[in-house]
Amino acid sequence: MASTVAVHDEIKVALPQLKLLINNRWVASASGKTFATINPSTGEEICQVAEADAMDVDLAVQAARQAFEHGPWRKMPASERGRLLLRLADLIESHGNELARLEALDNGKPVSVATAVDVARTVACYRYFGGWADKIHGKTIPIDGDYLCYTRHEPVGVVGQIIPWNFPMLMMAWKLAPALATGNTILLKPAEQTPLSALRIGELILEAGFPEGVVNLLPGFGPTAGAAIARHMDIDKVAFTGSTEVGHLIMEASAKSNLKPVTLELGGKSPNIIFADVDLDEAVEGAHRGLFSNQGQSCCAGSRVFVEETMYEQFVEKSIVRARSRVVGDPFDPRTELGPLVDQSQFDTVMRYVESGRKEGATLACGGERIGSFGYFMQPTVFADVQDTMRIAAEEIFGPVMSIISFKNVDEVIARANHTKYGLAAAVWTRDIKKALAVSNGVRAGTVWVNCYNVMDTRAPFGGFKQSGIGRELGEYGLQQYTQVKSVIAKL
Ligand code: NAP
Ligand code: MG
Repeated sequence: MASTVAVHDEIKVALPQLKLLINNRWVASASGKTFATINPSTGEEICQVAEADAMDVDLAVQAARQAFEHGPWRKMPASERGRLLLRLADLIESHGNELARLEALDNGKPVSVATAVDVARTVACYRYFGGWADKIHGKTIPIDGDYLCYTRHEPVGVVGQIIPWNFPMLMMAWKLAPALATGNTILLKPAEQTPLSALRIGELILEAGFPEGVVNLLPGFGPTAGAAIARHMDIDKVAFTGSTEVGHLIMEASAKSNLKPVTLELGGKSPNIIFADVDLDEAVEGAHRGLFSNQGQSCCAGSRVFVEETMYEQFVEKSIVRARSRVVGDPFDPRTELGPLVDQSQFDTVMRYVESGRKEGATLACGGERIGSFGYFMQPTVFADVQDTMRIAAEEIFGPVMSIISFKNVDEVIARANHTKYGLAAAVWTRDIKKALAVSNGVRAGTVWVNCYNVMDTRAPFGGFKQSGIGRELGEYGLQQYTQVKSVIAKL
């Protein structure tokens, strides 16, 4: 631990190493450059972090390549790889409070949420994939002729991973855990806004005893370090989570370099469809949480709330009351439900959407204003009378802005729900099994929730249809993204 930083008079948050992790050593960047990470609650700098660029990516690729081809990692029993992952899970769990504070400090999410969601799911993810390490195997196949044919599920090789800032340590776990369980070596770039939890987990990776070069961490910027990963000729695969716009760039870079396979987890504009037969209060609360959790900065946020016409007015009224009661404030206060947005740029983007909603004629039912004079706090915002064509209904906002839209019947709402380039998630609320199944089968999305929202589990696959992504993370499906199948055919 390098130093601590005071958040309040009583709360101190310990800072991790602030360098790059290459070949199990903490090093300055080749350029010597550093960048500031900001506390979104104050807008002030927390500390400077080493800034990776193309040269550092080269060094990390060399380390990861060496570790993959010649290090102990590939020769180690699969069960031992699993044990390392389980040890890492234990270390993260025992440092959970500290990691939750670090996430609250750097990202602005309430520490209660960071504990219950980010840390808990991170631990579960490493544990789950640790369990898989020695259970990954191929098949024997009865081919024609006098041959033994079997398949091996081999690691892809050196994997580049690029993650966003909304769930920093959890997105890191979704990427690292399956890649490590299957025996790959990795270089990972955390988001520029939130490098700190990744660096602390880097320290725990060393403590757990992972061999040299297996995990390399490169804090830095997308257009420099991120782009260098995407176009690198000696990286065998890229896994990316972030915006659909950058997803296009990642795929293009692969096409122009070595055709490395890419998996992409991208944006969304998820429909949350509520029929009038439901318990109104339950549905209002479900829709509220489905949108406002994590400050609305969630790829699967239920940002298009479709409500059946006959219940529309009541639903809007109750949603306003609930949004107004959401406790906005200091992420370190246990009562806080909504912290600041992650940075100035995200804050400005969300405010522009509020403005566009007003201009396009939606009814600003509540919120829409900044709170305070420092940090990036805003009021929970609800728009009513939203039309499908308005920008707030069509584009991903990634902030605490709910759009409530009226609908008449099942077929119509399915068609409207699907009228988007995205397909990450959807939900339907009803007591009618026919409606629930019609929507579940009809909506083109990677996850559909019935009478619930945001239920995620490390065992259940997650990912997008259409431009919400390629491939799946988590669960057994997530493993497949990190292995390639080899057929061995031997003459008997
Ligand atoms: P972003 O701008 O796409 O950034 C994501 C990551 O990509 C960051 O590490 C970023 O670096 C890097 N990056 C930016 N430009 C790059 C380039 N040209 N080449 C390579 N890497 C580049 O997205 P964001 O604003 O951080 O995150 C919000 C978005 O992520 C939303 O659209 C959301 O829906 C999506 N998301 C999706 C999921 C999912 O599972 N589907 C989960 C979370 C978030 P910097 O640090 O410099 O920005
Ligand atoms: Mg920050």
